[in-house]
Amino acid sequence: QAKAAGRNTLRFFTPDLQSAALARAAVEADMRVALVSRQFLLHYQPQVDMEGKLQGAEALIRWQHPSKGLIPPAQFIPVAEATGLILPLGQWILRQACRQLVEWSQHPYLCTIPVAVNVSVRQFHHPDFASDVLEILSETGAAPHLLKLEITESQLISNMESTIYTMNRLRRKGVHFSLDDFGTGYSSLSYLKRLPLAQLKIDRSFVRDLLNDANDAAIIKTIIALGQTLDMHIIAEGVETLEQRDKLIELGCHLFQGYLFGQPGPAEALHREYLTRVEVPFTPDQ
Ligand code: C2E
Ligand code: MG
Ligand code: MG
Ligand code: MG
Repeated sequence: QAKAAGRNTLRFFTPDLQSAALARAAVEADMRVALVSRQFLLHYQPQVDMEGKLQGAEALIRWQHPSKGLIPPAQFIPVAEATGLILPLGQWILRQACRQLVEWSQHPYLCTIPVAVNVSVRQFHHPDFASDVLEILSETGAAPHLLKLEITESQLISNMESTIYTMNRLRRKGVHFSLDDFGTGYSSLSYLKRLPLAQLKIDRSFVRDLLNDANDAAIIKTIIALGQTLDMHIIAEGVETLEQRDKLIELGCHLFQGYLFGQPGPAEALHREYLTRVEVPFTPDQ
């Protein structure tokens, strides 16, 4: 009997599952090393207005692996979430972004530029999250009003009351919030109204087909109207062409992020580029 159960268990544990589990364990072990040996870094992607003028930057984590090269977040953030490593990693990300804000505070042009930091579900719902953010702000001396936390819709649903509490606590200290990948989740409009959100970020998927798909244009228009009603700024992500940008302007969106304006890159690249930048020309006939 016991032997049969054992065999069943083994049979259930197929080679595929086994190798997936092993791969995940390997990534986890690798990440622990990476955290102490400083293999993570933040890249920054510009956010610009209609004149192509810099209005913000999103911090995006990268893993500079000694043998595998630069690894994108999709390959390790889910593992970090599943294992709990997102907690120390998330703190590192926040501290690093705050240090960047302090460095930029000395810079004649970048000193007013807010930095957006992605916060994962598990990190956000940790009971110490708000205290940790406030502690990192005071420890680094970064200006709270220049820190913008990006959260996603799915994050909000799970525990509305504690979400509102955490957000308000940080908002009262000056920290801003942006709702990332907006339109892909299931935000209830009545909830949205109760959240101290400064910004809605139109998901890349709507921008991608904007010019060919009337539904996507309609959705974007609705999001923009919603933003106006709720007094939230709107930014579009994944803007890759001038045509997309012009269509977004036509629909009433005035802030953009995407390859058209710059790939994510090291902080120094933003320094260089935005001191000597030839701005993307604004089409005047809008
Ligand atoms: P996200 O927050 O929605 O970030 C935008 C993603 O779109 C980034 O991918 C960015 O490089 C990419 N992107 C920007 N402009 C364009 C464009 O014009 N076209 C296309 N095709 N893509 C564009 P990335 O850096 O690979 O990050 C992917 C996701 O990983 C992020 O999505 C975010 O959810 C997560 N992530 C990144 N950094 C962090 C972090 O520091 N902490 C946490 N918790 N999550 C992070
Ligand atoms: Mg984001
Ligand atoms: Mg996004
Ligand atoms: Mg996304």
